[in-house]
Amino acid sequence: MGDDAIRCDACPVLCYIKPGRTGACDRYGNHEGKLVRLDPHVVLDRAMERGDSVVPFLERSHDWDGTLVSHRETFVTAIGAGTTYPDYKPAPFIISSQVEGVDMVTVVTEGIFSYCGVKVKIDTDRHLGAECSTVRSHDEAVGHVTTSEYGSQMLSLGGVRHLTGGNRQEGTATCNALLNLCNGKAVELIIDDGAKVVVQAGRAPIVDGVQEERMRVGCGSATIGMFAKQWFGKVDEVVVVDDHITGVLSEHQAGKLLGVPETGIKLKGRRSTPGRYFQVAEPGTSWGGTDIDDPLSILAKFNPKKAWPGLRLLMVSTTGEHHAYFELGKDLKPREKELPANLQESVARIQENCEPAFCTVLFMGGAGGSLRAGVTENPVKLTHSVRDALTRVTCGGAPVYVWPGGGITFMADVTRMPQNAFGYVPTPALVAPIEFTLKLADYAALGGYVENVRPLSSIASAGDGRRRVTARSDNPWPLESPAETKKK
Ligand code: SF4
Repeated sequence: MGDDAIRCDACPVLCYIKPGRTGACDRYGNHEGKLVRLDPHVVLDRAMERGDSVVPFLERSHDWDGTLVSHRETFVTAIGAGTTYPDYKPAPFIISSQVEGVDMVTVVTEGIFSYCGVKVKIDTDRHLGAECSTVRSHDEAVGHVTTSEYGSQMLSLGGVRHLTGGNRQEGTATCNALLNLCNGKAVELIIDDGAKVVVQAGRAPIVDGVQEERMRVGCGSATIGMFAKQWFGKVDEVVVVDDHITGVLSEHQAGKLLGVPETGIKLKGRRSTPGRYFQVAEPGTSWGGTDIDDPLSILAKFNPKKAWPGLRLLMVSTTGEHHAYFELGKDLKPREKELPANLQESVARIQENCEPAFCTVLFMGGAGGSLRAGVTENPVKLTHSVRDALTRVTCGGAPVYVWPGGGITFMADVTRMPQNAFGYVPTPALVAPIEFTLKLADYAALGGYVENVRPLSSIASAGDGRRRVTARSDNPWPLESPAETKKK
């Protein structure tokens, strides 16, 4: 390289960058011979939020003119703060502040996470794919389907195996998918032998081209329990079709307690307990997450000793999206009829009780590695301090859940962070903001870089690439205890 190129040492790629150019990740550039972090460094400002709590997050963001409202109203995030690599160097910013007369310190760095991924919750009844099926982005394996939860399908994407354990294309596709999902962008994922789903944090999922509207009110059995009383007297039998647990009113405990007489109905599938059936059909994207379009296909013949001509039967799915009404003829075969007005209300009530369907994206990262060496010379002490709740971990100022057990493995809801909080490096790995806030005395006790602590006012100069952003009112303020935040 020519003499005018400078080397970026913020990650293992160690780019040489010519004047006016950027490095491989577009995060650093050579500006007149100086290595500069190109994205603005984000500072959260709670006073702005107090002034007008209905202003959407970020809308009032603008360059920071260096004005400090007060130490306790300003929080320096790691977004755009830069990285120190290798990690034995102190973190880029170690900021002191005074809160309620107590000296606090916040250690701020953009961590490079090879051990990271996202957990995705997709609110849908539709079958997206079998457990353990591979999830692909741009034809590359980026994760897998995990369990179905109550009205949602979970995906696990990323992780060190997809980032480093496959070929270059797999690692790059994984990193791109994670980056876009964490930055709130829509990502199309295709599940082997399953559905194509567009996932975007905080938005409704789009499954095979259809936007999902509702998550289920409950399983088939729970739906019977919730609405049995509203059906009593208006209909003789109700079947709530569900891929997991289909409910039958007359056999269910709720029907028994109400005195609903036996109807002679017979379901295909495996009877679990009275009124609860498993495996009535194959998983699919139709009625209750099954593959059936004709609800009668899950019924066997009615028992002629119990059933009677004119018996009224409602079949409905767990979201109320699918429903049909039948009456038995003289031959005891169901014939479809128009849904009576008094049952329309109960179907509408099921729909009303369904919550809107969303995608949730939780970033999950392991900060228990070398990143800790940028905080203290004795890394395990940071882990212990987090474990003992002396150190608060935040991700771009947003709260995190730290997993119990060893290390500092945390999860954070990406919608609670400022926009574009994440970056990447082409190793490939994700770059995520992380801040550690603790008392100055505790920081000294864990072997922190006390000589590198600087006051907030030292970075409060105008025009140095910082941006202040309205703090989210529903996030706990990182500089005070949760109890204090609650009081306000
Ligand atoms: S990829 Fe980015 S962070 Fe890494 S050395 Fe190049 S410019 Fe620096």
